[in-house]
Amino acid sequence: MSTSSTLYSRLRGDLRLSMITLFGALTFVGIAPFVAIRASRAEWLAAGLDAGMMLIIAGSVAYVWRTGRTELVGSINAVVVSLVCAVLTGLLGEAGHFWTYTALAANFMLAPRWLAAACCAVLLSAQLWLGSFSDLVAAAAFLTSALLVTLFAAVFVGLSERQHRQLLAMATLDPLTGAPNRRALEVELPEAVQHHRQRAEPMALAVLDLDHFKRINDRHGHEIGDRVLVDLVARIQGVLRKRDRLFRLGGEEFVLLLPATSAGGARAALEKVRRAVEAQPMGPDLRATVSVGVAMLAAEDDWPSLLARADEAMYEAKRRGRNQVRMYPPSLLAGDRRGGNTDPQPLPATG
Ligand code: GH3
Ligand code: MG
Ligand code: MG
Repeated sequence: MSTSSTLYSRLRGDLRLSMITLFGALTFVGIAPFVAIRASRAEWLAAGLDAGMMLIIAGSVAYVWRTGRTELVGSINAVVVSLVCAVLTGLLGEAGHFWTYTALAANFMLAPRWLAAACCAVLLSAQLWLGSFSDLVAAAAFLTSALLVTLFAAVFVGLSERQHRQLLAMATLDPLTGAPNRRALEVELPEAVQHHRQRAEPMALAVLDLDHFKRINDRHGHEIGDRVLVDLVARIQGVLRKRDRLFRLGGEEFVLLLPATSAGGARAALEKVRRAVEAQPMGPDLRATVSVGVAMLAAEDDWPSLLARADEAMYEAKRRGRNQVRMYPPSLLAGDRRGGNTDPQPLPATG
């Protein structure tokens, strides 16, 4: 994936990251001229505060892109912006009020709701206390308009976040089983491959396919077939570690990503999965089994080649009689595809 498309997909997938980035860029462009204006008028404290805020926000944008810690950075930005805005009002009087509306709206886009509400409350109290209003009506008009902006921002951001979550779930989760779908796999697998290669850590990938699923559908009906898929996902997730990832590739085919897992660990885990499916019937007169193919990440791998090897091993498990786990042989990774036995290796019996 090119750098620009990686940046774009991170921005698209992370609402708070895009808010922090947008806010950082606009703050930088919007406030820079005021630093110059205040400096030219020898308003050094106000110029310094603005410049300090610009630096903190620019630094925090760089930090958040490197670490992904959007909640921490967004929270710091909201606190900094609210404090600077309040202090500017103390220094400049009326001119400080205009920035209040920006800070009130930005707080909800940057920080978690409770913190945004707290920042807004502190900022508004400070404005009322420090601001120079001509009379009580002017102060009341300021407070009312500021509260409306705050409410509008809180509701708007709340709705956007909910819609964003729903859209993301619709795009990346299989509606029947709730497992991440092929689209999610195509995002997560390249990231996992890159992560493990950089750290030289082992990683296993497995392709798992229900055996004779067509027969199950034919005998018991499509609805029962659907329930088998849901039960299968629950059983697999029941025996895997929290950090292992299960994807529905399509139909009755699944992919399992086992991070930081050696060949031995992958063998044991997938044998456990196979047994968990075989052990209990999924309904009256309904026993299901799975065939599993496993491949270990190799230095020269990209994600399609790793997936293709796991797939090949799965088909070998089918050819050899189903209800078994086969491992793609490490000897073939060295490029020796001609000599010797080229079949995926059976697992030693475990348990
Ligand atoms: P094999 O052991 O070789 O994998 O045989 P199979 O019958 O499992 O494989 P085949 O590819 O012949 O059939 C897969 C079946 O899976 C056919 C299709 O109707 C069924 N299927 C695919 N998606 C779904 C689904 O979402 N729900 C149900 N109930 N069935 C599905
Ligand atoms: Mg099948
Ligand atoms: Mg299949």
